[in-house]
Amino acid sequence: MATQQLARKTIIELTPYQSARRIGGHGNIWLNANESPDSADYPQPQLRLNRYPEFQPPELIQAYADYSGVSTDQIIAGRGADEAIDLLIRTYCEPGIDRIVINPPTYGMYGICAKTWGVDILEQPVDEEFNPDYSALEKIDAKLFFICSPNNPTGSLVDLDKLAKLAKSKQDKALVIVDEAYIEFSADKSAKELLSQCDNLVILRTLSKAFALAGIRCGFTLAHPDVIQMLFKTSAPYPISTPIADIATEVLTNRLGEMKQRVQTLNQIRNEFCEKLLSLEGVEHVFPATGNFVLVRFSDPELFKEMGEQEIVLRDFDDKPRLKRSIRISIGNEVEMAKTLATIQKIIEKPIKEYAS
Ligand code: PMP
Repeated sequence: MATQQLARKTIIELTPYQSARRIGGHGNIWLNANESPDSADYPQPQLRLNRYPEFQPPELIQAYADYSGVSTDQIIAGRGADEAIDLLIRTYCEPGIDRIVINPPTYGMYGICAKTWGVDILEQPVDEEFNPDYSALEKIDAKLFFICSPNNPTGSLVDLDKLAKLAKSKQDKALVIVDEAYIEFSADKSAKELLSQCDNLVILRTLSKAFALAGIRCGFTLAHPDVIQMLFKTSAPYPISTPIADIATEVLTNRLGEMKQRVQTLNQIRNEFCEKLLSLEGVEHVFPATGNFVLVRFSDPELFKEMGEQEIVLRDFDDKPRLKRSIRISIGNEVEMAKTLATIQKIIEKPIKEYAS
């Protein structure tokens, strides 16, 4: 009891990020964490592990440079995109003085990390279409601007021209960070071409989604070498363990085809699923589906709970701004999506044509 009072006040008051694993639950079909439904097999490596790994394993960095088309001095690897969010806030924001800007409804970790470090958060409302309000953002004084594209959970994509204009308006004043955790599912919308024009633009990437490697915790930050050098100062000394570096390097070097095939398959399953959903009367709105998930507003306020009772675990966004009765559904395999659709249909009892012949 007494030691609880030793913690920092902000931490005592903090509600930690409610990750899918922390929420837990039980079910047969798990569509609540935007994970890949399939996994490749990875042989147990025969490794000698008595030595520390390299700070930034060179083969891994080279492999991500080749994959992403940026140079090795524009990359830092870490334990998922989540660690990068934390690192950026820790490196660039003075607690109690600086603030970050987010565009809710969006990914929760930007706000949680800022709170953890005693950094203020400005919530800039999105426009009618759930896109960032770029002209409002240009007028805001802050240190870090987080824009998620594809946005979790609404699927909105960044407007690249407006992004470039925003970044230029913030030159020497702030970093503009584009979280591209899901970008492989909308590959032509990446902001990476803007990196050469904007030295204050930062892009977050991960192997957790399209690469089906959420279990290894590996992500990348792409930015101007000056930003990368600054992040090197605050990074853990050995963020990527030797077995993880080996698996990630192998996948990025020799298994890119598997990733591309997975993305193609999941995008197709997703598009068919969305089309079928739209023909259901109890579906009020299907948000643009640009990642491996789709956000759907239903008329039945009990649907999330009832799906859970049928052992289909989804993610509820009912309590988020402007997302009443909205549920995020990760895209699983064809069987999982057929069952999910049939169960939704059964619950809201509206006719629908047969799913995927
Ligand atoms: N950004 C977004 C938008 C996400 O949805 C997630 C994970 N759900 C992350 C970052 C974190 O990804 P990682 O597994 O690489 O930490």
